[in-house]
Amino acid sequence: MFIVGLTGGIASGKSTVAERFTRLGIPVIDADALARDVVEPGQPALDQLIQTFGTDMLTPDGRLDRERLREHVFAKPEQRRALDRIMHPAIGRAMQQALQAAQGPYVILMVPLLVETGQHRLVNRVLVVDVPESVQVRRLMGRDSCDETQAKAILGAQASRDQRLAAAHDIINNEGEPATLDAAVDSLHRAYLEMATDPHARERRWQLP
Ligand code: ADP
Repeated sequence: MFIVGLTGGIASGKSTVAERFTRLGIPVIDADALARDVVEPGQPALDQLIQTFGTDMLTPDGRLDRERLREHVFAKPEQRRALDRIMHPAIGRAMQQALQAAQGPYVILMVPLLVETGQHRLVNRVLVVDVPESVQVRRLMGRDSCDETQAKAILGAQASRDQRLAAAHDIINNEGEPATLDAAVDSLHRAYLEMATDPHARERRWQLP
């Protein structure tokens, strides 16, 4: 299966772009959604988290209290590694299963931290949704109703725009109106259909629109 890794900084427009690929009938696997699924009650990763961090990390109705776990591992590298040792393999397995089950000419794997985690080496193609950081800050404030200082702090924890762009095969510039995304996604979709069947077509690099 030809896999396109879709990434971009927070509030760059990944979900907006993913939704357009979905409309074209392309399966989209959302790594964030998988990370939530693997800690649902009854999943082995949740049992492992409880064994490692205790039942304190559960809400009264038996679900993972993500906020509490985040606070618990914050600034504790050893605890952070213990968390990663449980979560990374669980998410990796869920991702493999989702990729095997995906039906379509190609598949989109949406991973916010694709480049930071080195997972861009595991996909056939890296598609970056790109906007200047000032636009990211403005849209993040609009979507998550945070203030400018919080938005900038969230951005600061991610890979820089340059690092992401260096790993990109294809770039969608999302500074413009949402409607311009349709043309960009349509054009990329045609290119990916070709690449999925013809490896020679993969040598091209697209900068859209
Ligand atoms: P991500 O998934 O990368 O975090 P989203 O797709 O959620 O980003 O987009 C962040 C916010 O910006 C959302 O509120 C979305 O509706 C809005 N948005 C996305 N693209 C555009 C655009 N071209 N113009 C204006 N707002 C946009």
